[in-house]
Amino acid sequence: MTRQALVEPSISYAVERSARRTIGLYVERDGGVLVRAPQSTTDERIAAVIKAKQKWIYRAQARWAALNPQHAQREFVSGETIYFLGRPHRLDFRLDAAPVVLLEGELFILRTADRPRAESLLRDFYRSAGQDRLPELVQMHSVSMGLTPARIRIQELGHRWGSCSEAGTLNFHWKAMALPLEVLHYLVVHELAHLGQRDHSPNFWRLVEREMPDWRTHAKWLDFHGAQMTL
Ligand SMILES: [Zn+2]
Repeated sequence: MTRQALVEPSISYAVERSARRTIGLYVERDGGVLVRAPQSTTDERIAAVIKAKQKWIYRAQARWAALNPQHAQREFVSGETIYFLGRPHRLDFRLDAAPVVLLEGELFILRTADRPRAESLLRDFYRSAGQDRLPELVQMHSVSMGLTPARIRIQELGHRWGSCSEAGTLNFHWKAMALPLEVLHYLVVHELAHLGQRDHSPNFWRLVEREMPDWRTHAKWLDFHGAQMTL
């Protein structure tokens, strides 16, 4: 058995070659990626497999990180992981960075001098990302569901991900932008459905299900991982 760490855009992984016949990919509890491969497998072949499975790896890593309570203790230091649209990104504080939050690939780049206010800068970043992206998602489902909100707001909602006011305003928590896109869709469908049915009665869930037959998967994901999806 040999272990080596290779680096493929932001995923580092260990390789164990053995007498097995197929390549197996494992994301371990600490988020580490392990590849088990037949002796004859080339490094290139393994890199290609990692690349093809990138999405799955990120998702699996996000799952483990979400379950790992030490991530709840945020320090806002370089290398720390935060989630954006369901994918882990690393904080990268740089002396010469611009006085804004810059999202570059898998990095959130901030100026070192801004570290004390990193939390509020990131919160603003999520809020404006929500303002950019949520109206489009709402519009898309609004058309197919035949339910139109009066307006959309992105704000601090405490422990709720979203809400629907009497006046037909859909509110979304800024931290919803940390969620995977498909879960964000579910959130949008859920709040839009409240325009047709205020409570969580069977009629409400029928509205949700008509628009999103697999809503249960996303609702479950949110129950299980939601609490950890924060700054
Ligand atoms: Zn609801």
